[in-house]
Amino acid sequence: MNPELLTLLLPSSPSFEISSTNHNALTPQDISHLLAKKKLKKRELNILLAKFIDSDSAHEELFDEMMDKSCDIFLKDGVPNKPGVIRKFTRMALAETLFTKCFICKGVGTVFINNSSIEKCHHCNGTGNFIYEDIHRANIMKIPIKLFKKHRKQYYKIREEIVEIENEALRKLGN
Ligand SMILES: [Zn+2]
Repeated sequence: MNPELLTLLLPSSPSFEISSTNHNALTPQDISHLLAKKKLKKRELNILLAKFIDSDSAHEELFDEMMDKSCDIFLKDGVPNKPGVIRKFTRMALAETLFTKCFICKGVGTVFINNSSIEKCHHCNGTGNFIYEDIHRANIMKIPIKLFKKHRKQYYKIREEIVEIENEALRKLGN
């Protein structure tokens, strides 16, 4: 992401100084300003707040909205007979979009081997962005890989929806 775009969201940017008394928080005025000026939908603002300033409340609001979408997707394609699957899939798809930094190399792209040599991190292929595989997803969700694979198609549909929200939000922010 272009760092200049991010400053639009941060309360410390000069345009927010008059309305923000606390520089660590976005005020409701800041938020309505962003919504109006950039024509962001609530969910688009939420994904930016959740991803770039780590807002838990934005994350939860987005989760609730995505749960409705996920239920629609599963209703069309077949509801899982295990309880909690739709919830777990929605949580995971959201997490995968929000937390992109590689857990192993902390986003650096390289790892120390035996304290002597430096090698390319294989979990992100040197990019610093974690490469999520089905086995990781199943492990994080604490479900059998077989169950994940059974509903993989729905998982990707949910994820696509979330990526689309992020792309749309970034596009509007850049305008
Ligand atoms: Zn890595």
